[in-house]
Amino acid sequence: MKESHVSRRDFVKTLGAAGVGSLVGAGHALAQSNTPATTTAASPVMAPVKVPTRPFGRTGAQIPMLALGGMFDVKSNQLVLKQARDWGVTYWDTAAGYGTEAGMGMFLEKYPEARRDLFLVTKYDDDPGGMTAGLNKSLEGLKTDYIDLYFLHSLDNTSSLTDDLKAWVEKAKADKKIRFFGFSTHANMENCLTSAAKLGWIDGIMLTYNFRLMQTDAMKAAADAAAKAGIGLTAMKSQSGGPMGFDTGADLKLGGHFIQRGFTQQQAKLKAVWENPQIATICSQMPNLAILQSNIAAALDKTSLTAADHAALKDYAAETRPGYCAGCTRICEAALDHQVPVGKVMRALMYHRAYGDQELARSVFAQLPQTARHGLAGFDCAAAEQACPHGLPIGQLMREAGELFA
Ligand code: SF4
Repeated sequence: MKESHVSRRDFVKTLGAAGVGSLVGAGHALAQSNTPATTTAASPVMAPVKVPTRPFGRTGAQIPMLALGGMFDVKSNQLVLKQARDWGVTYWDTAAGYGTEAGMGMFLEKYPEARRDLFLVTKYDDDPGGMTAGLNKSLEGLKTDYIDLYFLHSLDNTSSLTDDLKAWVEKAKADKKIRFFGFSTHANMENCLTSAAKLGWIDGIMLTYNFRLMQTDAMKAAADAAAKAGIGLTAMKSQSGGPMGFDTGADLKLGGHFIQRGFTQQQAKLKAVWENPQIATICSQMPNLAILQSNIAAALDKTSLTAADHAALKDYAAETRPGYCAGCTRICEAALDHQVPVGKVMRALMYHRAYGDQELARSVFAQLPQTARHGLAGFDCAAAEQACPHGLPIGQLMREAGELFA
């Protein structure tokens, strides 16, 4: 695995030389070091910092271990794209449904030479019959001739990965419109990975994966199966936000532990995921330079998590378990005869409460069938609550979502 790291001191110097060192602000790892976050006229100008790369499965592609998630106002934040590219965060993720392809396309129209540096990822989330039109629309929006990695968006099972789809993928590759193909999954991730590993034609999967989920035997086995099949894995939701919001006392305790170590808890959660070499990259929402720099600092920093750090994360996971939805919708949705899209509603609530992104939350909710949206308050969810391994108050959350997003 090709990974290069620089010291925190080198990284700060380089950011300073780039004129943005002062943005490495309080509250993250660099602020905890004794190194000044600015440089002087006498400081040497160093080569630009680049985030280390990892192989993406057996595709032959090397990708940065930190990827830029595109669920923010990309059109108004072009500087984030520019700095991300400069610092080697060149895996850019978007989706037709996010409405941000045009923002990335705007950047590529202005800087067409940037295309060769980028690993562009977008997703299709409509009827499979419309994929060719969907792909062409994405190419047009992104102002590019090809997509590096094209995903089916948000699968909770692999029934749509048919032979017809395989033939479509082969043609799209032969036409040089896509290089690689796969899917994203926020629900039943373990089953999706295990099934996809048997197919032999899936290049990449983006999955919900974090310090909580990565510890389970089922997830370990699924990641092993995917890695053995040569599938490149992109982790998302690595901060493990929940639909209910978490106890601030647990957050303060975790934050306090990592401040002593020189990290933020957010950086520690990234580091925990990167400890698994089967994960090629973490896709992170980085809507501003402060978060981008903080995450890059975590990627560059050489310090390993200790046993005490892992214990702190484990304690936090246990304390906040009742507020976290693990995406095992095969359990709760089956208990409700698949009449209530619990997983998708939980996802909307997570965007609302953990990300504070009302627009995205509403947009995820709006994609649900009308009957599901309007009937949420009326469902008796007792059977699902009994089955839920995390003990989530599913009925209450469904009602809250119905009221919040009505
Ligand atoms: S509500 Fe419970 S059973 Fe349903 S997906 Fe979330 S954690 Fe799993």
